Amino acid sequence: MIEETLTMIPGPTPVHPKVLTALAKPTVSHVAPAFVEEFKGALNDFRSLCKTTTGQPFIVAGAGTLSMEMAVVNLVAPGEKLLVLSHGYFGDRFLDLAGSFGIQCDVLRADWGKAVPAADLAKALAENTYAAVTVTHVDTSTGTLAPVAQYAEVMKGRPEMFILDGVCATAGVDERFDEWGLDVLLTAAQKAIGAPPGLALVVFSERAIERRKARASVPAYYSDIMRWLPIMLDPGKYYSTPCVNEIMAFAEALRIVHREGLEARFARHGKIAQAVRAGLEAMGMALFTDAGNRADTLSVIMLPAGVEDMAFRKAMGAHGIVVAGGLGPIAGKAFRLGHMGNIGAGEVVSVLVAIEATLGALGITVKPGAAVAAAAPLLP
Ligand code: PMP
Repeated sequence: MIEETLTMIPGPTPVHPKVLTALAKPTVSHVAPAFVEEFKGALNDFRSLCKTTTGQPFIVAGAGTLSMEMAVVNLVAPGEKLLVLSHGYFGDRFLDLAGSFGIQCDVLRADWGKAVPAADLAKALAENTYAAVTVTHVDTSTGTLAPVAQYAEVMKGRPEMFILDGVCATAGVDERFDEWGLDVLLTAAQKAIGAPPGLALVVFSERAIERRKARASVPAYYSDIMRWLPIMLDPGKYYSTPCVNEIMAFAEALRIVHREGLEARFARHGKIAQAVRAGLEAMGMALFTDAGNRADTLSVIMLPAGVEDMAFRKAMGAHGIVVAGGLGPIAGKAFRLGHMGNIGAGEVVSVLVAIEATLGALGITVKPGAAVAAAAPLLP
């Protein structure tokens, strides 16, 4: 559509008109009975999205970084140690965050584009004492999908808190809170869930809540889950004014997720990822992430030799499509394409056509139509 932009970055993702309509409803009192019902519904739907029956969800105004902070600050005391499994920029963010609270960290860092083997986690746990382990399910900088089910086998029956960052995964990639024995699943609204940014979303296990309760206090006020727990058990209560419209939009986004069905939604993300990659490869483009651990929610793609990053993204923008640049060691060398949330075949085809035209304009020869021809049979 003229004057419309297709935002194909790894979050925020395009927001469905039904969700935008919920956002645009008149703002009501945070204790209005109809809003309290919406809030309760969002808590329930978020809990089932995370595949837990006993986990306690928290919905708080903020974003993914606040949910990271809520996980760490409530479960790891200053002076205790945290083990960070890092697959890139957002894994490393846990080090920064923990350091701000005087929490010591060890890090198992994979080469960019590769995953930390589960055996390395087992070895680190055997050699040291940690209060908690953090894993980034999909690192948005490298496109790496962590082998969480394998880590879960290692963590089974262990005392360390198991914290999973699902910001770039939840609702696009399967996450099994109860089956994996997670203690915290933290996420945000603006990626595969398909709501606008503005929420910190966290689920705590029963034993994680007990761990927090065992501490007299934590070095936090807004991120202290004990202050939020009464509100999550009865959303008619007040601690800090909830973002009424954003929660109504989130509730609507969750209804879309559950109407599609979780397994169907994950399968659609898988098909879209396969189609996007077949299209890119048909244009001779190379993916950055190792083939064995590519996430279905985004692709990290090397820019062909001679194609300058800003020129590429500007030309894509002229076709109405926004993609993201590379981060860290691949800044200027790669671009990141989000393909998660409520997108379908139409968006994939538009992006591939725009990439083909952009490459052509920048002097790279591409067989016309090859990308769409390769992608089309794989599309949902
Ligand atoms: N974790 C991951 C994996 C992310 O991709 C992001 C954001 N891109 C964050 C955490 C931080 O979330 P936010 O930007 O919403 O604070």
